[in-house]
Amino acid sequence: MLRVENLNKTFGDKKALNNISAAFPEKQTTVIVGPSGSGKSTLIRSLNFLERPESGHYYFDDQDIDLSKRVDNKTILGVRRRTEMVFQGYNLFPHLSVLQNVMEGPIQVLKKNKREAAEEAHELLAKVGLAEKADVYPTQLSGGQAQRVAIARSLAMHPEYIFLDEPTSALDPELELEVLKVLLQIANEEQSMIIVTHNMAFAQQVANKMIFVEDGQILFDGPVKEFFNTDNQRIVDFISAMT
Ligand code: ADP
Ligand code: MG
Repeated sequence: MLRVENLNKTFGDKKALNNISAAFPEKQTTVIVGPSGSGKSTLIRSLNFLERPESGHYYFDDQDIDLSKRVDNKTILGVRRRTEMVFQGYNLFPHLSVLQNVMEGPIQVLKKNKREAAEEAHELLAKVGLAEKADVYPTQLSGGQAQRVAIARSLAMHPEYIFLDEPTSALDPELELEVLKVLLQIANEEQSMIIVTHNMAFAQQVANKMIFVEDGQILFDGPVKEFFNTDNQRIVDFISAMT
């Protein structure tokens, strides 16, 4: 299981993470919510070493990484091999077809052979509803389609965890829905995920566990049912403002 303890991250005089501790259970979806600027992105990016907290511990199963010490590249690459980050802006390779985008990581990193990689890429594209787009280039896709390719690409790496930071915030509601459906399906298949989202209806459907962050601190960490039934007025107000 992935777990962090006492993370601290400062930008100038802004404390983006203020002693954050949280666990992210395997085979579950943890959803992180909170107001804009509260530290959600800093937290999820820290889980992939895209941000480097000044202090704290990062635990992955029995591995204990002390963030106040120098962390070597091998350790970081090790974590990145076991996790995949899906960005808001898809980050597809523009010069590669959709199929090639999904095959690239498995061939380059997992050293799969081409036939095997292509076969699985076709399966994953079918899974995200894009079987017929295999030979198209990213510029010919809608935002929702591009994001689904990005999700297929991350699944092709068989990560233990997938991290998604506001995966649908750049999309129109209709395109958003097709991406959320895919994420719900993946969650049902017990892929471990951590998702930052503003979509409360989606959070309620997909999450096993909710984390509410404000001002770099965790105000709530618990089961999704408890979150949506809380009598904590701050959270009640937040949920009603978001829906
Ligand atoms: P959220 O994702 O919840 O909107 P962020 O994690 O992006 O919040 O940001 C948390 C705080 O840290 C904000 O005050 C933000 O302005 C600040 N911050 C984040 N990244 C940087 C950065 N690279 N440089 C300076 N300040 C940053
Ligand atoms: Mg953010």
